[in-house]
Parts: sequence; structure tokens; C-alpha cells
Amino acid sequence: MLKVYNTLTRSQEEFKTIEPHKVRMYVCGPTVYDHAHIGHGRTYIVYDCILRYLTYKGYEVKYVRNITDIDDKIIKRANDEGVVFSEISETYTASYNEDMANLGLLPPAVSPQATTTIKGIIQFIETLIQKGHAYASDGDVYFSIPACKEYGKLSRRRTEDLKVGARVFPGEKKKDPLDFALWKKAKPEEPSWDSPWGKGRPGWHIECSAMAKEHLGESIDIHAGGQDLIFPHHENEIAQSEAANEAQFATYWFHNGFVNINKEKMSKSLGNMVNLKKLLSKFHAEAIKFYMLSFHYRSPIDFSDGAMEEAARGLDRMYRVLLSVPPSPEKVEPEGSFRERFEEAMDDDFNSAKAMGVLFEMVKEINRLQRKKETLAQAGAMKDLFVELGGVLGLFQANPEEYFKNRPAEGDLDATKVEQLIAERAEARREKNFDRADQIRDELTAMNVVVEDSPEGTSWRIKG
Ligand code: AMP
Ligand code: ZN
Repeated sequence: MLKVYNTLTRSQEEFKTIEPHKVRMYVCGPTVYDHAHIGHGRTYIVYDCILRYLTYKGYEVKYVRNITDIDDKIIKRANDEGVVFSEISETYTASYNEDMANLGLLPPAVSPQATTTIKGIIQFIETLIQKGHAYASDGDVYFSIPACKEYGKLSRRRTEDLKVGARVFPGEKKKDPLDFALWKKAKPEEPSWDSPWGKGRPGWHIECSAMAKEHLGESIDIHAGGQDLIFPHHENEIAQSEAANEAQFATYWFHNGFVNINKEKMSKSLGNMVNLKKLLSKFHAEAIKFYMLSFHYRSPIDFSDGAMEEAARGLDRMYRVLLSVPPSPEKVEPEGSFRERFEEAMDDDFNSAKAMGVLFEMVKEINRLQRKKETLAQAGAMKDLFVELGGVLGLFQANPEEYFKNRPAEGDLDATKVEQLIAERAEARREKNFDRADQIRDELTAMNVVVEDSPEGTSWRIKG
């Protein structure tokens, strides 16, 4: 039985869909004003894995992942570069789509854009005004928080507390400081669309409410995004959608953990952004997925080059085993409870980390079975199951030979040689031959390899 953690109830619940065997899933897409970074990578890797697992469980999933292609940040970048906003949004939409495809993520059923949903957005806002949940004010339209009794139910914030920090910016004509914009009156030189309230553009939150309704209907099963979206984005989406539709918007709210760099938030100002394209040029897409999915999706990840390299080597080791085993001639379910344990892990709130542990054990088992001629067929059967279950995580989909041919190599570095030296060094240390151990360390340093010893063992990385 699949159990999922729901941010709305702050608990694990049995997964039940609105319509039997069907899942309607909406994931907030990126705001396209720059190239995607590793945080975007993680987010969409996580939901790709969830999509694959639900499909594996027999659900027919309609997956919608939007593109926010009109926003302050896009306009700012366009102004800075002296180009029209669409040049920025089109460039980075293409860049993002390319990255998602290169990561090998399944394409969503629909990838709607805010700018092509303007009609639906305007209708949505009109409904909110008619129902007394929104009001026009000098070309802007605001959502009225005092009229929304359940406001704060997702983020568990109280309107009294929110009021303390709220303020009205110059030019905003709100009735209440917590009210937020559904429609923003056009400023000179800004992109705008005609509306009943004059020329303007939509606010970010209403875009998602309208796109979800247009492509999935009034009530959906899953709504997801990164943890930063809980407030205000998703809180406001709930407020808008439930006020307009008078129905529960989403049954389950999933929020994935952030990717930080050395425990710091990734940001342009800190200059620590890890660009996804750059990472894809250095590592096989599956190595990036392998790294990201080795954590539970709700946990934070403290990204480091060393751990990324370690993950790539781990994947290499697993592919090396696959390389040596022929596929089994007939389809048989191998012995052992690997499939059950894999499902048990994934049924436990999509615990891909635990599921990967099962895959590790399977590799060991394949290795063992392939050593003897009599068990070679069993090794093949185990490998087939391994590839099938790996595929549920979006992994092990490459032909092993192709994998080794195509994956970016770690420069001119001979990883086998490095591992040999590290093993030799460990041996020297065990024998208390510290001179030899130091000598090997120097040799590794000369190869630009940094060795790190910890209670869990020794790891290495290339000096960045
Ligand atoms: P944005 O383009 O900033 O709206 O982000 C698109 C999606 O990526 C949202 O679901 C964000 O929550 C998610 N996201 C942004 N930054 C990170 C990060 N550092 N780690 C994980 N997810 C992120
Ligand atoms: Zn959204």
C-alpha cells in the first residue's frame, strides 16, 4: 500500500485517487529567466521518479509541468539586456527543455505556458470577483484575504502573525496588507495583455491555478514543487482555486527538499550556483539522478563535487557488473524478495534512497551468481529485474557498453589506478607503514586527487 507524506496534513497517508487508477499531477515549473541549476534538476528528477513509480503501480498519470514565462525577473533581465521579454523567456525555455530531455526525464503530458493561458487566467479572476473574493483597484486586481477563512492552512501561518510583517508598497492600492495581486496594471514599457481592467499582466500564483484547472480540472490528486513554494505560492494557489471552484484543490501536496552548496543557499550573489548544463557536460545524466535519488526526496542535499564524483563512480561500478552479464534467455522472476522490498521502500513515501539500497544488494547478488556457470542464467534473470526496477527510478536505461563509451570521462584520470593506490595506502596504514602511506598520498596529490578520510572510510575527489 502506497503511503505518501502530505504537507497539507503534515502526515503520511494512504494514497487514494479521485478517479480510480488515474492520477492528476501538477508540478510547478521554472520561471525562465536563466539557465537551470542543480536545484531545478533535483526537483524535476524527484517528480519524474514519482511519476515513474505511480505508472509502475498501474496508475494512468496525467502529468502537467508548466512554464512561468512572464514574471518580474524575466522583465528585469530583458530590460537589463535591452531585449523584449519573450526573447529571454524563449531562450531559457528552450534551454530548460533541453536539460530536462538530456537528463532523460519523461516529458509531461502538457507543458503549458502562462502567456498562452491569459484567457483562462482572466476568466478565473472574473469568477473570483463575482464570488466576492477579489476586487479591482485602479487597473490592478487583488485577492481578498479577509474573505478567505482557511488562509494559511497549508503553511500553518496565522493571518494575525502575517499581518505583523506585511506592508503595502507604493503604488499598490490594496484594502488589506495581506491581499495579493492577481492582475498587475501595465507599467510603461512592460509587456501587457488586454483585460476587463485595462492592460496588464497576471500575477504568478493565479497562473498556476488557471493552468492546473485548464489541463487537469478543478480538483487534482497531486500538486508539487520545492519546499520554498509552500508559502506564499502554494498557499495562494489554494486560496484562489478553492474560492473560485468551491472544491478541494489538491488532495496531496508534495514538497521536495532543497539543494544547498556547502550548507549555504545557492545564489547568484554568493557565486555558488551549479549550472545543470555544465554538470551534464561533466557527468552522465544518470550519475546526476543517481546522486539526487540517493536521498529521500524531502531531505535537503548538501551538494559537493566530491559526493557527485563518488556517485558517478558508484554508478560506474554498477554498470561494470551489468556489462559482464548476458541477459537471461527466458523471462523468469529471480529468487529472493527484491521486488517486494523495492516496492516496500517506494511505498514508504517514495523512499528512493532505501530502494537504491535494494538495487545495491541486487548488484552484489548478480556478481555472486555470475561467478559460477550453473548460476549464470539466474544472474541474467536478476539483471533483468535490476534493469526493470532501476528504470522505475529512471536509472540503468543505457546499454552498458554505450554508457562507458558516452559518459564524460574524469579528464585523463585513471579512476582504477586511483582506487588501487587508495587501497594500497589503506593497507600501508594498517601495517603502520606511514612513510609508504604518505608517499602514496603525495602521488595522489600529484594526480590532482584529494583524499578524505572519515569514520565511514576513505573517499576521493578531483581537486576543483
Ligand atoms: P523557480 O524557477 O525558482 O520558480 O524554481 C522552479 C522549481 O525549482 C520550484 O519547484 C523550486 O522550488 C525549485 N527549486 C529552486 N531552487 C531550488 C533548490 N536550490 N533546490 C531544490 N529545488 C529548487
Ligand atoms: Zn506554481
